[in-house]
Amino acid sequence: MIDLHTHSLFSDGLLLPSELVYRAKVNGYEAIALTDHGDLSTIDFVIPRIIKISKELTEHFSIKVLPGIELTYVPPSRISAMVKKCRSLGAKIVVIHGQSPVEPVPPGTNRAAISSGADILAHPGHITEEEVKLAKKTGICLEITTRNGHNKTNSHVAGLSKKFGAKMVLNTDTHAPEDILTPEKIEETLKTSNLTKQDYEIMIKNSKEVVKKTK
Ligand SMILES: [Zn+2]
Ligand SMILES: [Zn+2]
Repeated sequence: MIDLHTHSLFSDGLLLPSELVYRAKVNGYEAIALTDHGDLSTIDFVIPRIIKISKELTEHFSIKVLPGIELTYVPPSRISAMVKKCRSLGAKIVVIHGQSPVEPVPPGTNRAAISSGADILAHPGHITEEEVKLAKKTGICLEITTRNGHNKTNSHVAGLSKKFGAKMVLNTDTHAPEDILTPEKIEETLKTSNLTKQDYEIMIKNSKEVVKKTK
């Protein structure tokens, strides 16, 4: 299993990176990205620390740990510049907190994220056809999420992504131990998203490609 969207104590997650990563390893993960929420006020504090612990845990827990960030409620006109800033600080995975159906994320966030150079647009809610077509062009991955609330629009995101050939990845957006991925969770999410086992194989391949690109 691969999960490219999780939260630790460095934002609003319940666990230290070390516990989060070890629990993921016990559940059978091969790779995990630590992507705490960040904006201009926190990225220079959080990213270097996440890089340090990712290196330590990759070496000593035998699981691939990728240092990342989830840019959250960044003004859409600033998203591209912030992605570059996060990369220059060493973030390997950049996720954008998309226009979830259950939060007032600034309008224009999905659109700005798609052409920002980020790796993943998380929980993109009622993303439009035009935006999905653009995602196919830029190669950003659109997220199918196991997280309650955000997952309300999974079947919408999945339907348009398949129709227009945009890439999808399956992530948990883990904040607490019970959120960590299990085979049952995957099965349930595929079912409610109108996705097949075959679609899941493709999503795994997409996640692996994102991981590979970080080398
Ligand atoms: Zn988010
Ligand atoms: Zn998140």
